[in-house]
Amino acid sequence: MKKILIVTSLILSLVGCSSMGVKEPSDAEINAEAAKAYQEVKSKSKMSTNKDWNDMVQRVANRIASASGEKFNWEYVVIESPEVNAWCMPGGKIAVYTGIMPILKTEAALATVLGHEVAHATLRHGKQRYARAMKENLIGLVAGVAVAAGGQFLCKTDTCKTLAQVGGVAAGFALTFFDRKFSRGDETAADKEGQIYMAKAGYDPAEAPRLWDRMSAASGGKAPPEFLSTHPSDANRKANLNAWMPDAERAYASAPKKYGLGEPIK
Ligand SMILES: [Zn+2]
Repeated sequence: MKKILIVTSLILSLVGCSSMGVKEPSDAEINAEAAKAYQEVKSKSKMSTNKDWNDMVQRVANRIASASGEKFNWEYVVIESPEVNAWCMPGGKIAVYTGIMPILKTEAALATVLGHEVAHATLRHGKQRYARAMKENLIGLVAGVAVAAGGQFLCKTDTCKTLAQVGGVAAGFALTFFDRKFSRGDETAADKEGQIYMAKAGYDPAEAPRLWDRMSAASGGKAPPEFLSTHPSDANRKANLNAWMPDAERAYASAPKKYGLGEPIK
């Protein structure tokens, strides 16, 4: 009861000062908040000790990062978790969950996923969504609620719940980033840009449509991971990737080094 009262008064006070003086965050601001949230996720997660997977994520992420041409403070980790997921926060903070690795099957498929996630960051999709949430007072609201009640009931994903308990900026960021749904347009743009990144990085872009087939088969009607959540239908997605293939093939042809499908993932 006490918690409900605190939450209610927070909501009222936030609504009272709604949308006054809210400005869009700069890259530096959003990257700093993402870096703090990333630190929290790392400190509260179990890191994978699988050397092959860690090495593979490091080398593929390095190649994708350099193909993107973006001067972020890149960081990559592999988190031990059955979750079929991977993400790249604004500013280039990447995590791959061990649950996705067996589904990928090839290093080129990992490049497909990382290309897609990195494209969300380079195209500033997370930053745009954060700015929208700020305008709606969602950030202040969730930060306040997190402090008052653990933030649990606002979060859908475990990672959001973990960060909500920390409160403040990490909690607000968590709600927009980990319980996120990028728009369908953002997802399509990330598929397109991601396919170019993987090709420039030296991975065969023909693996992209094959990977998304494996992903949708693996999701088997359960709660879909980030890259399936608001996506165009699988048929559209494949049609898109095939339509963009000539550009991706050109990028692949000019890649300084070619790895094809890379190493298999067992
Ligand atoms: Zn996505």
